[in-house]
Amino acid sequence: MTVTAIVGANWGDEGKGKMTDALAAASAYVVRYQGGSNAGHTIINGYGKFALHMLPSGVFYPHVTNVIGPGTAVDADVLLRELEELQARGVPQPKLVISERAQLVLSVHRLFDELEEGRLKDRSFGSTKRGIAPFYADKYAKLGVQAADLFDRDRLRQRVEQSLAAKNILLQHLYGTQPLDAAELTDSLMTYGEKLRPYLADTTSLLDEAINKGESILVEGQLGALRDPDHGIYPYSTSSSTLAGFAAIGAGVTARAIERVIAVVKAYSSCVGAGPFVTELEGDEAEQLRRRGGDAGEYGVTTGRPRRVGWLDAVATRYGCMLQGATEVALTNVDVLGYLAQIPVCIGYKLADGSVTDRFPVTAKLGDAEPVWQVLPGWQCDISGIESFDELPREAQNYVRFVEACIGVPIATVSVGPRREQLFRL
Ligand code: GDP
Repeated sequence: MTVTAIVGANWGDEGKGKMTDALAAASAYVVRYQGGSNAGHTIINGYGKFALHMLPSGVFYPHVTNVIGPGTAVDADVLLRELEELQARGVPQPKLVISERAQLVLSVHRLFDELEEGRLKDRSFGSTKRGIAPFYADKYAKLGVQAADLFDRDRLRQRVEQSLAAKNILLQHLYGTQPLDAAELTDSLMTYGEKLRPYLADTTSLLDEAINKGESILVEGQLGALRDPDHGIYPYSTSSSTLAGFAAIGAGVTARAIERVIAVVKAYSSCVGAGPFVTELEGDEAEQLRRRGGDAGEYGVTTGRPRRVGWLDAVATRYGCMLQGATEVALTNVDVLGYLAQIPVCIGYKLADGSVTDRFPVTAKLGDAEPVWQVLPGWQCDISGIESFDELPREAQNYVRFVEACIGVPIATVSVGPRREQLFRL
C-alpha cells in the first residue's frame, strides 16, 4: 500500500487529526495538501493536547517526514509558531519539508478576509478570517507568491506590486482604509524567506521517489467533503478542494497511487460557520450534545466558536463518502452518544415540493429540506474504555451497523475517545 488518504465525509471536525496521528505510527510520510490555518486538528497523545493548524499530524513521530504540499495555503507565522510550541513542550524536532511551489498567505489576504466579512455583516460566510478565500482567489488569478519567490527581492517586489495594484483601489474606495506599501510588504516577506529556507524542497520529486520505493504515505485532508467548492454546500464551502482526489494535485502524488481512502465520519453532526444544516438541533438538546462532544465540547479549534450540532445525517454522509471515493470509514465520537436513551439518524430529506429523497440536493434546495428520522435505541453507558467491537453493548453495535448500511461503505475503525489509543479495528 503506498498512499492512504484520510479525509472528512462531513463538514469538517470529524477527528481526522486523531486518525492521522494514530496511523502515522506505521507511515513514512504525512502530507498536507490543501487549506491553510483555517481549521485545526486536535491531537491528544503522550506529549499532551495539541491543536495543529499548519503542521501535518505526523509531527509527533521522529521517523515520519512531514510534507506541506504545493496545494496548501502556507501561513508562515502560524507554522513557525507551531514549530516553536512543539519544541517548548518537549516534542523532538520533527522532520518537515515544505514545497518550494507552495504559496504564502500574505498579511493582505488576512486583511481582505476581515474587511469583506465586516462588509457582508449578517450575510457573511462565517470565515475564520485566516485569509484563505483571498489567498486562493489570488492564486488562481496568478497573483500569488510561491515560497521559491522569497529569495529574489526585485522579482518579489514586482509580484507584490502587481498584486497590490487592484487591492489598493479596493482598500481605499470599497473599504475606506489606507492603501498598502509594496516595499514594506516585500521586506516583511523577505524575512520569512530566511526562516523557511531550511524546510523548502522539491516535495513532488521526494514523494515520487517514496512511491516508487513503495513507502507508506498518508495524505491528510482538511475540513470535509461538504465544504468542497465544487461538490459541497457552495457558497458556504471552503476555497480549496477537500476531496481525496485533490490530494493527487495538492500533494503532488500520482492519482493512481491513492489506493486507500479512509473517510472519517462523526457519529453525530457538527458544523462551524454559516450554511444549510438539515439535522441541526436547537436549545437544550443542542447544548447537551455540544457540551459532551469531542474532547472538551464542540467549540472550534481555530475560533473557539460554539459549533452547530445535530444528529447523524446519513444522506449527507453517504454523499460525502461517495465524493471521497471512500474504501473504508472511521466512525469517531461514538462514545459521545452514550447519554442518550434514543438516537435519531436522518435517513432522508423531505423537500419543499413534498418529495422525499435520500440523495443530497443542491444548496438552493437544502434550506427548505427537513430531516426524515429513524430512531435507534441508545446504549446509555460509557464505552470509552472498550477495545473491540465485540465488547460494545448490543445497541452500540447496532448503531454502527445501521450507519454502515445507510452509507454503503464498510466501517473499518471505531473511535471511542479523543486519545490516540482509543480506537479499534472491526
Ligand atoms: P479534525 O479537524 O477532523 O481533526 O477534527 P477536530 O480536531 O477539529 O475535532 C474533532 C474533535 O473530536 C476533537 O475535539 C477531538 O479531540 C475529538 N475526538 C476525536 N475522536 C474522538 C472520539 O472518538 N471521541 C471523542 N469523545 N472525541 C473525539
